[in-house]
Amino acid sequence: MRVSRHSGMRAWTYLADYAQAQIPRYTSYPPANRFAADVGAGRARDALRALPAQSTLSLYLHIPFCKKLCWYCGCHTSVPTIADPVQAYVDAVVAEIARVAGALSDTMRVTRIHFGGGSPDILSPKQVEQIFTALFAYFRIDPSAEIAAELDPRGITPEVVHAFAAGGLNRASLGVQVLDPGVQARINRIQPREVIDAAIDILRRAGVGTFNIDMMYGLPGQTRDHVVETALYAATRNADRVATFGYAHVPWMKRYQKSISTSDLPAGEERFRQAEAAANTLEQAGYAPIGFDHFAAPGDSLETAERTGRLRRNFQGYTDDDAAALIGFGASAISSLPGLVYQNTTDTAIYREQVISDLPVVRGIAPSEADIRAGRVIDNILCNFEADIPGELLIAACPVLTPMIADGLASLAGTRLTVTSRGRPYVRNIASCFDGSFHLAPARHSMAI
Ligand code: SF4
Repeated sequence: MRVSRHSGMRAWTYLADYAQAQIPRYTSYPPANRFAADVGAGRARDALRALPAQSTLSLYLHIPFCKKLCWYCGCHTSVPTIADPVQAYVDAVVAEIARVAGALSDTMRVTRIHFGGGSPDILSPKQVEQIFTALFAYFRIDPSAEIAAELDPRGITPEVVHAFAAGGLNRASLGVQVLDPGVQARINRIQPREVIDAAIDILRRAGVGTFNIDMMYGLPGQTRDHVVETALYAATRNADRVATFGYAHVPWMKRYQKSISTSDLPAGEERFRQAEAAANTLEQAGYAPIGFDHFAAPGDSLETAERTGRLRRNFQGYTDDDAAALIGFGASAISSLPGLVYQNTTDTAIYREQVISDLPVVRGIAPSEADIRAGRVIDNILCNFEADIPGELLIAACPVLTPMIADGLASLAGTRLTVTSRGRPYVRNIASCFDGSFHLAPARHSMAI
């Protein structure tokens, strides 16, 4: 346990209309539901070629396979089959790495690599080595680059961790979610505490210096005590960061979620109080709150970024990644370049086929000047809880923002918007005021809290 400037309990005010509103998570702006099919391989290649020679790069590699599917999962993933084997996918990712590198100047420096999924630990040590060999062959990887991977404690073996560590892995994100065996059974993710302990020990022995824990609230059968138990576990194991995600029940989009009965879910204020319990437990344990769902130990790079105004959002959530371009590899991966955001096909078979002849890009968007201005405001609100609002955005936001100011969630001094402490849990609602497309055509999203 630690003591920090953030220690102390805060009581959250429950406001049902805001807490239960469906709001985008804004990991990017414009959000992915505005991507269109008029962006394909040609425009992606032009954007890659237009990157200045001295650009820094952040690379994301999506491994869309898991040994078994958790019912709450919202990721692009599946269980590998004979028709859809991991090796064929890894070969395609290596082909994509070569193809993308061919469009870039070789003077660019890679400052960050992130393996996400799915479960990157499903790769064999040889496949991990194959990917790292390609990355080091085609890119200049900075010696101080952060190299991170999302790992499932149940899939962690000394062999696979050593393969990642040999490539330079220096941060792991462990999916812990919840410790209670009853809740684990209801989400089809049986993961005894000893398995997680063993995974952490393997990482430490392999010299992987930092690790994050992901945990959840709002799961079927979950109580506040379960949330506190998991948060305390993360703190006592000295996780460097903890992310607390609310379960997003969207069975119309994710068919495995149909195995979860809506009547088992903590509803209304109980779900909200679980988010509050997680935050208060972690803050009392000495973690600094980062934005609306991350917590970082004092001295962690995310905590430093938050303190020094360098916190940002990208597709993985809060980050201190300041690379000029984020390039995604693999099925469903999203790339964000100056002037263009684009996404690869989500279908692994089509991905493997398409990458043979071209970049597997199927949709995207070139943000307009207005999108860039709105995105900057949304980012500032979500990262710093305050923002200077350009006049035209403020006028457009008035009908939705005014009631929130009246409810004490935010204050306005001239064009400077500040989220109040009462409004902090509702920061996504406040940010959404500046997303014109959302208020014109609200879509179905996860709950705000
Ligand atoms: S291990 Fe992670 S990515 Fe795989 S099914 Fe479970 S939640 Fe989804």
